Amino acid sequence: MTTTPEPANLTPDQKKYGAHDIPSYLDPNNIGPYEIYLEQVERVTPYLGKLAYWVETLKRPKRILVVDVPVHLDDGSVAHFEGYRVQHNTSRGPAKGGVRYHQDVTLSEVMALSAWMTVKNAAVNLPYGGGKGGIRLDPRKYSQGELERVTRRYTSEIGLIIGPEKDIPAPDVNTGPQTMAWMMDTYSMNVGRTATGVVTGKPVALGGSLGRSDATGRGVFVAGAEAMSKLGMPLEGARIAVQGFGNVGEAAARIFHEHGAKIVAIQDVTGTIYSDAGINPAVALSHLRATGSILGLSGAEEVTRDEFWGLPCDVLIPAALEKQITLANAGRIQARLIVEGANGPTIPAADDLLAGKGVTVVPDVLANAGGVTVSYFEWVQDFSSYFWTEDQINERLDRIMRDAFRSLWDVKERHGVTLRTAVYIVACTRVLEARALRGLYP
Ligand code: GLU
Repeated sequence: MTTTPEPANLTPDQKKYGAHDIPSYLDPNNIGPYEIYLEQVERVTPYLGKLAYWVETLKRPKRILVVDVPVHLDDGSVAHFEGYRVQHNTSRGPAKGGVRYHQDVTLSEVMALSAWMTVKNAAVNLPYGGGKGGIRLDPRKYSQGELERVTRRYTSEIGLIIGPEKDIPAPDVNTGPQTMAWMMDTYSMNVGRTATGVVTGKPVALGGSLGRSDATGRGVFVAGAEAMSKLGMPLEGARIAVQGFGNVGEAAARIFHEHGAKIVAIQDVTGTIYSDAGINPAVALSHLRATGSILGLSGAEEVTRDEFWGLPCDVLIPAALEKQITLANAGRIQARLIVEGANGPTIPAADDLLAGKGVTVVPDVLANAGGVTVSYFEWVQDFSSYFWTEDQINERLDRIMRDAFRSLWDVKERHGVTLRTAVYIVACTRVLEARALRGLYP
């Protein structure tokens, strides 16, 4: 029988991690991104009322698969990579979330990313649970052929647990439409039919959706613009600093620029640039494509990676990786508004520091939900084999992001909490309501 012991019976670690045995991956001496997520769940628990009875559901991923991915390299040798697929929760529908290729991918990171997908999908009310995958490899070191073999073998290995009605991968850091085409083809070959709905973020020619490639950046813009209007900050001439110039950061910068904002700083893996007069993101992108770096862009000066955080700006958009905003830089941030394009860019202690300074943070689980929202549209279109126009996609995306933002902002005002806690209150309540209604099997 499952009982919840009185708080007095719990050790401090049990209070933090849950009433029952602490699984090895929650070892507090070896914390990773999952610890950040657990801290966020901790903060929301007092607002969950009777549903707090089920809160441990949110702390434990439903299913974790770790796979060995062996492939032939171009030089004839065999390399082994470690791959993961974590299905954090499926209470509200199939697991859903991207696949990341990065040299620093760990199980803790994929667990956290999968949990944030659960919260994100519930926050914008998509009929999904949360999942995430990853392979620990530096894609810059491998040829297209090698990456194709890695992707196909990984897809085959996780093929046991993915599927259009089970778990639907999508792009994330260093993966894109071509990766999804290989995944769709591999899964389809294995099941003996063309199953377009097994992944989203595919090329449009293979059942992908118009508007998907800009969707995350577009959602960042919609959420950011809504926040600016609540804070009385004009869009015209607003000074924006962007960290990350990939699928999310580049699109967000471009769309903010199109709406009259000024992109004053960009940081990516190649360096950091600043221009008081403003950077045209389209010109920065052509420069990056031509030279392989954002450095050397005319009219922009190079600054150090660390200086980026203290640059004068109104809005900061971290759109790269986790744990970027920490106690080492949060105090220097000049922006009044942070819009999290990345997943998990702010550690909880920095969140507190920013809240204390009066900085508003639009959290990842709301700000970057535009990508998975258009993934949902893609999945629906694949099921019905009927495709919408780009205008229809963008209009529906804008509406979902705007409505979600406004109702979550109201929750924040009502409870007097940060926007992150407000989003967690709504999302965790939705997940645990589904959990409570379904009950435990057997
Ligand atoms: N990787 C994206 C995210 O973190 C998109 C996930 C999806 O479309 O399923 O939200």
